[in-house]
Amino acid sequence: MLPQNNIPKDVGRKLLKLVLSRWKLLTVTLILTSIVSYISTIFPYLTREAVNLLYAGKIEDIWFYAVLVVVLTIIQGLASYGKNVFSEYTGQSIVYELRNRIYAHLNELSLGFFDRIESGQIIARATSDVEDIRRFIGFGIPSILNIIVMFVFSIAMMLIIDVELTLVTLSMFPLMVLFVRYSIPKYRAYVAMSRNIYSEMTTAVKEAATGIKVIKSYVLGDYFASNFRSKLLEYFNMDMKTSKLRAIIWPSMGWFVYLTIAIIYWYGGLRAISGDITIGDVVAFTLYILFLNRPIMLIGYNIVRYQRALVATKRIFDILEAEPEVRDLPDAEDIEIKRGNIRFENVWFSYDGKNYVLKGLNLEIKPGEIVALTGPTGSGKSTIAQLIMRLYDPQKGRILIDGVDVKRFKLESLRRQIGMVHQDVFLFPDTIRNNIAFGAPDTSIEDVVRVAKLAHIHDFISSLPKGYDTNVGERGVTLSGGQRQRLSIARALMINPKIIILDDSTSQVDAKTEAAIYDALTKHFRGKTVIVITQRIPTLKLVDRIIVISDGEIVEEGSFSDLIEKGKLFPKLFKAGREEI
Ligand code: ADP
Ligand code: MG
Repeated sequence: MLPQNNIPKDVGRKLLKLVLSRWKLLTVTLILTSIVSYISTIFPYLTREAVNLLYAGKIEDIWFYAVLVVVLTIIQGLASYGKNVFSEYTGQSIVYELRNRIYAHLNELSLGFFDRIESGQIIARATSDVEDIRRFIGFGIPSILNIIVMFVFSIAMMLIIDVELTLVTLSMFPLMVLFVRYSIPKYRAYVAMSRNIYSEMTTAVKEAATGIKVIKSYVLGDYFASNFRSKLLEYFNMDMKTSKLRAIIWPSMGWFVYLTIAIIYWYGGLRAISGDITIGDVVAFTLYILFLNRPIMLIGYNIVRYQRALVATKRIFDILEAEPEVRDLPDAEDIEIKRGNIRFENVWFSYDGKNYVLKGLNLEIKPGEIVALTGPTGSGKSTIAQLIMRLYDPQKGRILIDGVDVKRFKLESLRRQIGMVHQDVFLFPDTIRNNIAFGAPDTSIEDVVRVAKLAHIHDFISSLPKGYDTNVGERGVTLSGGQRQRLSIARALMINPKIIILDDSTSQVDAKTEAAIYDALTKHFRGKTVIVITQRIPTLKLVDRIIVISDGEIVEEGSFSDLIEKGKLFPKLFKAGREEI
């Protein structure tokens, strides 16, 4: 598919290792394949015997061959069944292993990895790339083994019958192989192009399906349709070209075959007339040539399979070998957060290693303090929150909780003690109850109700016919943005964290409810450290201290009334947010 020079050398070794990991299964497949191939190559020989007997008029002896053919066919059928089952099993066991490994490794990887790679790419690697490897190991390898066995057996049988005719026949093979070698790459290039156009086409359909609201609202239907039509036409043309080429290649292969057969008719015929060989020999050779035609064509096909598998191996190992940047240090410990003091010391952070979002941030949040981070979009508020959780690590500087560097905590222990509600809410396709109790599965319904009340979502849940057992997410009840946000607040409260971080988690809740939620939370969580990221005035009025962030730096801080009077940036933000009150 792709030019092979893109593939580093060690990829072949990785693929080989995958193949060898199934050597037992492949050996069984090889034995069964050999039986199937061996019986196939015997048939022309049996035909030869039968023809010779016929020619000699010994019709009564043919019975033996007739029965033998039936018996061999039955054996071959059984072996072929076994071969197919085993090769399918081999392929599927690879699929099973690879998908498991990919999934497990994705869980290990840090967020930075997911910033760099599109989710579509990950899905493609776990699905179609894995399939390419399955096809190579499950079908390609057995098919290659089959080709080799067929050749060896057929040539051996031909040599037994007649050496001279064998040499004549084999002299045609180099020509066929050359033809395959030159025509297949071109064909493959065509296939690659039409695949590319195909994926552009599917992307266009996906865009239309996901963006249908926008497309309709802006009356862009015609634009998208004509775009799609042109892709469709391109695909149509490319596919026609491919088909035409295919329509030339296959018959040309046939041409070589029949040329060889013609030579055998003529030369073999001459020798048969002179009594050198029998008529049965000529018939057997004709059959062998027809027989070997297929494996030769399959060589090209298997080269394609092999190259696809190489590309797929590279793409899959790109994921499997990606190292999580954020991980437990060897001496990481389970540390209990007792007080909830948070300190940023000269923290520099960049997502891409070039543009720094935080440039030497110093920040101290006292135990039990309720602070609000506010500031323009893109100023770095969410980044600060994610660094506390160690979803990313800063390039320079330290973040301390109760005086301990967050890197000294075991990741699990750190994250378990911090309740974070992210900007974008994710609900699992499960019941409301399970979505709330997600971090603590053995929770009683009373506890679930208690946090739901705090998050001001209990009344809504109770109004649903199935209450807490209502399914949300796919094919479940559709919740509004604000309802989803409140559910995820309840989820964060459920784990009873020492530190709570709410990142714009009420942006879709109306201002009155938001203030009510924070009022409840601030009363309930006195003593816990709470960080609220918000632009909403009623909430800003509730907190102990407001920290205004702009461009990754703290520009001013204080209480609401202080900042309104003396602040520089804050009053401007406040004006911009006036409609929110
Ligand atoms: P805020 O929460 O204040 O709106 P963020 O912390 O989300 O701001 O973003 C700060 C800056 O970092 C922005 O310029 C944003 O584009 C950038 N940024 C945020 N998340 C990522 C990411 N995952 N990868 C790259 N850049 C990011
Ligand atoms: Mg944000």
